[in-house]
Amino acid sequence: MKTPYVTLEEVKKIAETYPTPFYLYDEKGIRENARRVYDAFRWNKGFKEYFAVKATPNPTILKILKEEGCGTDCSSITELEMSEACGFSGHDIMFSSNDTPDAEYVFANKLGGIINLDDFSNIAELEQILEKFPETMSLRYNPGGYFKIANTIMDNPQDAKYGMTTAQLIEGYRILKEKGVKRFGMHAFLASNTVTNEYYPTLAKDLFALAVKIKEETGVSLDFINLSGGVGIPYKPDQKANDIYEIAEGVHRVYDEILVPAGLGEVKIFAEMGRFMLGPYGALVTKVIHFKDTYKQYAGVDACAVNLMRPAMYGAYHHITVLGKENAPQDHVYDVTGSLCENNDKFAIDRELPVLEKGDYLFIHDAGAHGFSMGYNYNGKLWCAELLLREDGSVKLIRRAQTDRDYFATLDIDDTMKKYL
Ligand SMILES: *Cc1c(COP(=O)(O)O)cnc(C)c1O
Repeated sequence: MKTPYVTLEEVKKIAETYPTPFYLYDEKGIRENARRVYDAFRWNKGFKEYFAVKATPNPTILKILKEEGCGTDCSSITELEMSEACGFSGHDIMFSSNDTPDAEYVFANKLGGIINLDDFSNIAELEQILEKFPETMSLRYNPGGYFKIANTIMDNPQDAKYGMTTAQLIEGYRILKEKGVKRFGMHAFLASNTVTNEYYPTLAKDLFALAVKIKEETGVSLDFINLSGGVGIPYKPDQKANDIYEIAEGVHRVYDEILVPAGLGEVKIFAEMGRFMLGPYGALVTKVIHFKDTYKQYAGVDACAVNLMRPAMYGAYHHITVLGKENAPQDHVYDVTGSLCENNDKFAIDRELPVLEKGDYLFIHDAGAHGFSMGYNYNGKLWCAELLLREDGSVKLIRRAQTDRDYFATLDIDDTMKKYL
């Protein structure tokens, strides 16, 4: 059972000022979760969570996370700019990009951010671009093969475009050390949306063993190990949520087992979670505006896949609560659709819901990460607003809805669209 953090009455009130569709984020949930993350990892002195900006790129959200002690993980110049503008600087910024334009390295370095190199060839390139390596450098690892937890394949790194091979990584640290780099980090992201407490501990165990090998072979003692993102959330109501305390304890156990005896007991643990930090604390709120009864029953809403593309793109499940009908029997089956000229524009397929009526408000759960941020403008559809439900119950507009004017603004300057600008 998933419970929305707003009631029908509250949404009706909000919709008087901000028409649907809109995103609504829950400040209280965001803060409490961030505090749990830091509390769970407090055994590690240097622990830091670098929020993956791509999940929810909104300055208001970033500033809330900054107050909770987080840094940012960026992969583009605009994410770096947003971080800088929100007051992140120096080692509060991680730059984990790939296929990176030169100018982005230069800017990340100017902000004093930690540059995490994706490929072995980036080492020589970066030396050319920056002339001198920063004192701290991080390298991204890809072990190849399959990443397994208890014989279950979680993902196949061998097919992933990211990271360096073991040999490249070790050679990379050797080169960087020789070139005068003082502090070193290692990064790996091997599986996405893992709904198991075993992901971080299993990953950490591999990375810790590798850190020992790196020390033996190159004399480099890593300063930090970045477990990156991938800690998942239960999109389906019958899934069991990850327990961040159990996850952190699992990492602690292998830390004591592998790193401490190898004289690496000062290594800082970093994370770059996006989904786990924001996913459950953002929802897309949309209104039922149409019904259609043909070979199936369709309920059309005023949002579409441009506002939340995960169901269309990955067939992802997002739970839906019909506000005000939380306790009604779920005895109707609908496809819940948007208005795009794309048949994959469905927020739900064959979903059991209470009987729907025009004007019902749907709360589409777990859209707080990789939701709004994956938006696009197909069919000339516009981005919706983002709102923050504050801890005192008030609502703040943190991004206005896009207008037709915004949509036309980048066109060639002639008179064709003038009356709309
Ligand atoms: C996407 C991404 C993350 C965040 O992933 P989540 O699954 O949202 O936790 C972290 N680090 C990097 C480099 C990423 O590309």
